[in-house]
Parts: sequence; structure tokens; C-alpha cells
Amino acid sequence: MPATDRVKLHELYFQPLLSQEAIHQRVVELGKELHDRLDSGDPSFIIMLKGAFVFAADLVRASRLSGEIGFVRTSSYSGTETEGEVRLLIPPEEDLIRNKDVVLIEDIIDSGLTMRSFLPKLRKMSPRSITLVTLLHKPQAQRVDVAIDLIGFTIAPKFVVGYGLDYDGLGRQLPAIYQLEEAY
Ligand code: 5GP
Ligand code: MG
Ligand code: MG
Repeated sequence: MPATDRVKLHELYFQPLLSQEAIHQRVVELGKELHDRLDSGDPSFIIMLKGAFVFAADLVRASRLSGEIGFVRTSSYSGTETEGEVRLLIPPEEDLIRNKDVVLIEDIIDSGLTMRSFLPKLRKMSPRSITLVTLLHKPQAQRVDVAIDLIGFTIAPKFVVGYGLDYDGLGRQLPAIYQLEEAY
């Protein structure tokens, strides 16, 4: 299916936002930037599951850095008292963090609440440094401050899918990124 077509996932339609080519070009740039910043050592790449797995696979190779790979999976609590607190469904391996230059790879930073809760947990594990890379950022949706080191694309506060990101389990395999169509 050409990237210009809309896609239907469950009951919703999505339209193209970022092409496969545009994503590839930007990921190569981000890879070079990471290489320049972290040339001196072997970083630990820590990948936020599930959404960042496609971006991370491309970014790690584009960086041409050698380093170990680890995974984290968070889940947000719902309920008023704990809003924004994340639970670690898959915590990072401590030996990939302690005294390491950690490259934390995220798919998208939206409200910022996930990172606000997760970053202190990561810092407690005594990394030498943390470089936070996100493919997408929605500044207009951000509710708390997060120090992001590298951003692939700044986008409008609309729900997006593809290139690892899902809508209720679907759409991760799409090579491009699509945004939810406005009802009209
Ligand atoms: P936060 O609001 O805490 O910054 O974002 C938490 C997580 O929600 C993101 O890492 C991502 O997994 C998911 N998320 C936020 N915005 C979107 C979006 O537009 N599309 C998809 N598929 N997931 C999103
Ligand atoms: Mg994520
Ligand atoms: Mg999701």
C-alpha cells in the first residue's frame, strides 16, 4: 500500500504524517549526532517497550556505536492519587545502568508524565550519564518539564501510529507515521 493512503485501524482512520523516507533521513541524522556525543565509550541503549522498538533498531545501527541493549516496559497507574506514576513491568538490568552512559530511547513524549516518573528511578541506579532521545515530541501536550536531549520530530498534539506506535495493538508494523483523521 502506498504511504499516501489512509489506513484504518479498528474503527478509526489515520492519514500520512511522516513518510518512511523522511523518518529514515532524520534517524540517520540522529545516529550521527549520538555517535559524535558518545564516541568515547560503549553506551547502554535502553529501549522503552513496546513503541520504541522499531525506532531503536534503526537508531542503534545508524549510530554505529557498539554497546549493550536493554529493555524497559512501563505501565501507568490510573486513579487520581497515582496519576503519572509508572510501574516497571520490565525494569532495566542494573549492570546496564550503573556507571554507564545510558542512551534512553523513547517513541514519543506527550504529557511527559512517563519520563517524569521514570527518570528519577533510572538516576537512582547511578548511570554515568543519561541521553534521552525521542523520535516524536508533542510540545503542546506536555504537562511537565522533561530534559530531552535529542528530538526527531516535533508534531501537533494529535494521536499518531506506525513505525512502532500502535492504536490498541494495531499499526506498529507500518513503515510510515500516520495521524488520526479529524472527524468531519
Ligand atoms: P507521556 O504522556 O507520558 O509523555 O507518554 C506516554 C506514552 O504514551 C508514550 O511513550 C507512548 O508510548 C504513548 N503515547 C503518547 N502519545 C501517543 C500517540 O500519539 N500515539 C501512540 N501510539 N502512543 C502515544
Ligand atoms: Mg513510549
Ligand atoms: Mg500504545
